[in-house]
Amino acid sequence: MANITEPVSSNSTTDLTSCDREQVQFSGAIQPHGLLLVLEEPQLIVSHASSNTVDFLGQPAADLLNKPLSRALPLSQADALLGWLKENEIACVPVHLGAIPLHSRNFEVFAHRMGNRLIFELELATPDPSAATLLYGKVRSCLAELHSARTIPAVLDIGVRYIHQLTEYDRVVGYKFLGDGTGQVLAEARREDLPSLLGVHYPPGDIPAPARRILSLVWVRSQPDTQYIPVPIEAANPDAAPLDLSYSMLRSTSAMCNRFYKNLGVRSKLIVALVNNGELWGAINCHSELARPLTYETRVACETIAHGVSVLLGEKDKLADAEQSAQVQKNAQTLIEKISKPQFSVESLTQGLLTCLPAGGAAAILDGRIHLQGKCPDENSVRTLVGWLEKRALSLSNPTYSTHSLSSVFPPAKAFNDVASGLLAVRLGEGSYLFWFRPEVVYEVTWAGDPTKPVEVDEKDGKLRLAPRTSFDLRRSSLSGLSEAWRTYEVDAAATLGRSVRAALETAELARSMQKLQEKNAELETFAHTASHDLQTPLRGISLYSHSRAADILGDKGETEESRLQTIHRLASRMDELLQTLLRCSREGRVTPEQRWTDLNEILDQVRETLKPQPIALHATIRNSRLPQILCNPVQMQQILVNLVTNGLKYNYSEAKEVEVGVLDNVCELTLYVRDNGIGISPEKHSQIFTIFRRLPEGEEHAGGEGIGLAIVKKIIEGQGGKIWVESAVGTGSTFFFTVPQDASTPNTQSDRVSAG
Ligand code: ADP
Repeated sequence: MANITEPVSSNSTTDLTSCDREQVQFSGAIQPHGLLLVLEEPQLIVSHASSNTVDFLGQPAADLLNKPLSRALPLSQADALLGWLKENEIACVPVHLGAIPLHSRNFEVFAHRMGNRLIFELELATPDPSAATLLYGKVRSCLAELHSARTIPAVLDIGVRYIHQLTEYDRVVGYKFLGDGTGQVLAEARREDLPSLLGVHYPPGDIPAPARRILSLVWVRSQPDTQYIPVPIEAANPDAAPLDLSYSMLRSTSAMCNRFYKNLGVRSKLIVALVNNGELWGAINCHSELARPLTYETRVACETIAHGVSVLLGEKDKLADAEQSAQVQKNAQTLIEKISKPQFSVESLTQGLLTCLPAGGAAAILDGRIHLQGKCPDENSVRTLVGWLEKRALSLSNPTYSTHSLSSVFPPAKAFNDVASGLLAVRLGEGSYLFWFRPEVVYEVTWAGDPTKPVEVDEKDGKLRLAPRTSFDLRRSSLSGLSEAWRTYEVDAAATLGRSVRAALETAELARSMQKLQEKNAELETFAHTASHDLQTPLRGISLYSHSRAADILGDKGETEESRLQTIHRLASRMDELLQTLLRCSREGRVTPEQRWTDLNEILDQVRETLKPQPIALHATIRNSRLPQILCNPVQMQQILVNLVTNGLKYNYSEAKEVEVGVLDNVCELTLYVRDNGIGISPEKHSQIFTIFRRLPEGEEHAGGEGIGLAIVKKIIEGQGGKIWVESAVGTGSTFFFTVPQDASTPNTQSDRVSAG
């Protein structure tokens, strides 16, 4: 009977797992289309007999108990069977021993062993000599056709079609067990007037766990008539251990199960296992409205087809898995190469995460910052998720966490089930993670039965009894909070990626430190050049003026002594100012010139004064157009102008050397220029002259520097966000232009702050 053998307390949850607890193997009865005899070893005497022996053998079961087999069967047949047993190893899976005639009926004989019990099952046979040839032909064509199938549904479809032809049952469906215990119909062959079940999901428990376990061992279970009256089994010793009929072919199935099929209008059924790698992958299920016994040969043919289908399913499953796994690994490798480059950005990382694995959204949480890509929960939710994961203490050796039902383990995730029912996380370090999110799969499932009410419960004798559903309408239901499951290779790829991201982050940190170090070195180098170059000009002036002061003392009168001493003093102060700036820069480790409103006319006066003692300034005019007040660093502006004006005078053969400093009438940008009537520079050399230590041969004969003046000027100008260029040709003089960015928030300096030059 279909009772739960364990009493279930009335307040316990009675669901499909209750079915799983039902001990179907101890049914104590068989179906009536055969008889059962059990011999106990080593005496080989009958310990159990089905009560229908009187119908088939003409002897009541009680007369056979504790007797040898020869009491039940004719001596020759009993000897033949026992002889066969001696020669062959018998295990728990029933073996077909052949067909024997008994009392003018034919029986197929099966034997299997459970412990020290040899179980003989004699099934009424309906021999059909022509059937075997027909069956071979069918099986052969089916196997040949299977070779051409490329996909899993195609393989199943062929198997289902041939089994439909062989059994002539009304409906044959091939379905796959999904990870969550449900089954989904992937192929079917049916009587035309029946509705299609293709795509339908079966709730878990339509084949309960114990039945699945047995099915994967025996491959075929047939029930020619679900509306039978069970035949009880009589035992020689009622106190002996109950007879385990797990592998019996004739075992009476649970009454719940039979009522269930009655409700479905199913009178006979056959189920054939599809096994992949020793595990039940799915099944081919055959139903008929009429009682329709199947010959042993037909069942074997169906089983052979199921074996062929199973082998191919395994192969196709492996192939599909291998292809997808290879793709994921390739994607991960591409991303790893990208992020291994020194300049990798977090944006390219998060974008890459999304292309790496099939997911709806991805996030990188690095140094407390959250970078989201695609469809993700909001930043706050991601932060909460990080907090929750931190408590799970993922280690660096085992840094991944994945779930396809996040809200079932982390209830706040219900709020964002739509985007993140699935989470795959890799921990990179404290509070740092890579996340992939998968959206909720809205299973608009057509259930063959009500998944929320899988069984009804009868209460009798103070015990709960399972009763099958009384209706089998197709229902639509949506499972909530479930995403597509993460595959093992996806989790592995994520872990590999996590390791590479950690390495890349460490390398990037190292590269940043190196870069800073190099920048510091370069600045120090520039300081050294600037110091040696720019300090020369005022120093030369001091030297020349002190020299002419000495000449004065010797009587050669020129400029007034006071004025010369004042100039020496000013030049020395300017040098001091330059040195102070350099000192400040070197202390701060970078050039951060302070900007202030500066009158360019004053700067130019200082330039004139700096150059005045120099021989190159003799017979030279330094002119200026109307110059404005601008925002700049005055010391640096003076450096720029001293260098440019010096060059204008230095590279100049003209009798009357002229240098003009002016400002372009340009509203958007402040552009200054320094124009000379010197030797000019041929256009192909324009780009070279700003390179450090680059001097042009044309300038060799002139009082020369080291080729660093323009390099310094360029660096200062670009350091302020400006640019410098030259317009010149040989013999026509040169004009150097440079821009000085002005703070946009300040009023335009050129229009209202112009003073006369
Ligand atoms: P230096 O410090 O040697 O003068 P610069 O970097 O200032 O070097 O200039 C680089 C080269 O550019 C000079 O050697 C010279 O040939 C050329 N040059 C610079 N300014 C001018 C100019 N106004 N007219 C012609 N040639 C110039």
